[in-house]
Amino acid sequence: MRELTGRAVSDAIGAEIREKLGPVESMLGRKPKLAIIRCGERPEDLSYEKNALRRIREYGMEGEAITFPEDVSDNVFQRAFNAVNEDKSVDGILLMRPLPPQLNEGFIISCIDSEKDVDGASPVNAAGLYFGSDCFAPCTAQAVIELLKYYHIELSGKEVVILGRSSVVGKPLSMLLLSEDATVTVCHSKTRDLQKITKRADILISAIGRPRFITSDYIKRSAIVIDVGINTDKDGRLCGDVDYDDCSLKASAMTPVPGGIGPVTTAVLAKHVFEAANRDLL
Ligand code: NAP
Repeated sequence: MRELTGRAVSDAIGAEIREKLGPVESMLGRKPKLAIIRCGERPEDLSYEKNALRRIREYGMEGEAITFPEDVSDNVFQRAFNAVNEDKSVDGILLMRPLPPQLNEGFIISCIDSEKDVDGASPVNAAGLYFGSDCFAPCTAQAVIELLKYYHIELSGKEVVILGRSSVVGKPLSMLLLSEDATVTVCHSKTRDLQKITKRADILISAIGRPRFITSDYIKRSAIVIDVGINTDKDGRLCGDVDYDDCSLKASAMTPVPGGIGPVTTAVLAKHVFEAANRDLL
């Protein structure tokens, strides 16, 4: 069984950015910059923010977190958000979601400058993904594609089953995989006879947020298993959606958790910030 580690992929993405960064920085007269907007202190947001800022700086760019209390008013948030959205020194914006209920998330997302929308949240980028045009796809969905391509895993004509239909992972990933000529099935909590479907998969991708839910009973022999899940088990340990030890006896290749899709996601975010800064120069 081959382990598909994310570090090799993120290193390759980082090397490409570093190689091209000098001229872009000279032309901009500054480093490309990401602004992360966060309300409250959810542990998963803090962890993602820390990793994202570390990655951005590791690749030679700049990152800033703009934070608000959980009970921030719509007025205060909207004004600060508009300022970041219009700030010419900010190339990319990452909005930590879900926003607190007093804020109109749908409206705010629709306001993000699509050129700065490095996590593909805005309707403009979602439409771009749908029509297969040049756009920013959500970083985690894009990270799955980057990892599969890095390891030269053929997608054309392959039977790919995705577990999870969220707008940040499952849905955008289905569009990206269709663009790669895969045959895609998307499953969710109402899917009947799940194992029958998952066992068809040449490539099984799980993004359901259920600790070690996918056992070897869900996969066919020699399947490739991509684990997007980041969960904590009942003992407080970080784990994926996939029972790694059990599935590794049957799969031909698997991503670990941690160390799989996670590091590639922050690398893709950094790549998108670099590309957004580059677009500023066009
Ligand atoms: P989400 O919005 O909660 O969506 C979960 C999806 O899984 C839903 O579509 C749900 O179906 C489906 N689902 C839940 N239980 C299921 C079951 N027993 N059988 C089949 N489908 C089931 O979650 P998310 O934001 O997409 O995140 C999913 C996982 O990925 C989480 O562990 C999260 O931490 C992780 N994640 C990782 C990264 C990364 O960088 N690696 C980034 C984002 C998320 P319904 O639609 O029917 O409810």
